[in-house]
Amino acid sequence: MNKPTLLAAVITLALSGCTQFAPNYNADLIITNGEVLTIDSNMSIIENGVVVVKDDKIIAVGEAELADQYRAPKQIDAQDGIVMPGMINTHNHLPMIAFRGLGEEGISNRLFAYFFPLEGEKLSRELIYNATKLGAIDLAQSGVTTYADMYYHMDEMAKATKEVGLRAVLGQTVIKFPVVDSSAPYGGIEYAQGFIEQYKNDPLITPAYAPHAVYTVSKEKLQKINQLSKQQDVPVLIHVAEFPNEETRIKEEHQANSPVEYMDQIGILDERVVLAHGIHFSEKDIELVKKADAGVAYNPMANAKGATGMAPAWDMYRSDVRIGLGTDGPMSSNQVDLWRTLSYATTMQRLKHDDRTIMIPEQVIEMATIGGAKALHMESRIGSLEVGKQADIIIVETQSANMMPNYDPYATLVFQANPSNVDTTIVNGQIIMENRQMQTVALDDVRGTIDAMEADISAFANELAKKAIKSKSLMD
Ligand SMILES: [Zn+2]
Repeated sequence: MNKPTLLAAVITLALSGCTQFAPNYNADLIITNGEVLTIDSNMSIIENGVVVVKDDKIIAVGEAELADQYRAPKQIDAQDGIVMPGMINTHNHLPMIAFRGLGEEGISNRLFAYFFPLEGEKLSRELIYNATKLGAIDLAQSGVTTYADMYYHMDEMAKATKEVGLRAVLGQTVIKFPVVDSSAPYGGIEYAQGFIEQYKNDPLITPAYAPHAVYTVSKEKLQKINQLSKQQDVPVLIHVAEFPNEETRIKEEHQANSPVEYMDQIGILDERVVLAHGIHFSEKDIELVKKADAGVAYNPMANAKGATGMAPAWDMYRSDVRIGLGTDGPMSSNQVDLWRTLSYATTMQRLKHDDRTIMIPEQVIEMATIGGAKALHMESRIGSLEVGKQADIIIVETQSANMMPNYDPYATLVFQANPSNVDTTIVNGQIIMENRQMQTVALDDVRGTIDAMEADISAFANELAKKAIKSKSLMD
């Protein structure tokens, strides 16, 4: 055997020796060395687990050895961090981040005497686009991968959300008075048509209707929206039972016992609806919501800050109602991420029931992930780390002082973690943030526009606050 032939034989032997260890399957991304919270139906946790992604989907989840079966151009070592589904914020008005920190002087009639006039004066297409970009970066940096929103000019929100790379259910507001995107009352219905048409088959954006509330939208328009949502198969997002006097008003105007009973009576409570708040739900309301298979967004931090009450979230959870967590808008809870909301979800329910055994951390994390997916009727696609689901994944580091020790990952997440512990955020298979570095839109890209916006809003907002503080009535 001459030398080249010998060399060829050695190479062949070496290669054949390797093939039995070589990875068999192609993937795009392999996450290794993490404590994987799958949030599957058994709430399985995999120590030193692996998650494999191809295109926009999760194709394998399992023990460390699983990584050997796959080859991928990108590997992420989670370094003992917690690997979990991205969190789902089920209720927001993200562009109000432009006004975050305003109107905190103790205004009683904050919604009507402050929010609405401020929006009337300052909202524009441009502001909605720029503010959404800032908000979406804030969400991505804190581990929220899907959010549901009710606002105006939803096409601008969709554009900014997609640039950052998040998933969203975007509800075009319908309300009985003229607003920024409609000079006529109820113009939101027509606006929604175009928006739904444009985004109906988008991989990240789910277009929706958002009738503001049962007291700001007529019965006829609510029924029309219900009809359209059925025809177009899109969700309907609505505020319900947020204020105590909603009930009195519904009784007077529509002879129904509660906003939910009213919705049921006029035929608009169905499986496409997501009810934001539900603070003043009766037992019967919970039964009706359950029967209709509607979703509920529980916003404990916003409800505490606004002193609007404590929703019967534990009762809904135990009754198997589709319930997820939300923050409400950035003027209501000032944070768009869910970290503090996790803790409020627990503490508010324990205080309400005078019972420290309820709403344990595992249940709260369930609510923030698969619970949110269920509330938005998206549980077949998102909310857990399981084969076939969309690859919406976050890695929460456990090396910072506030994350140590980490005996029970659910308790660590609910009671110790904060947004800055989120290390990596992946949506639909795309890495949005890695090692705290944004990969899509950087904060520096929006800083200039946000500074200019702040300068423009400041003086008007302060004058408005002086007037608003004298207004007493809650809902007029
Ligand atoms: Zn709201």
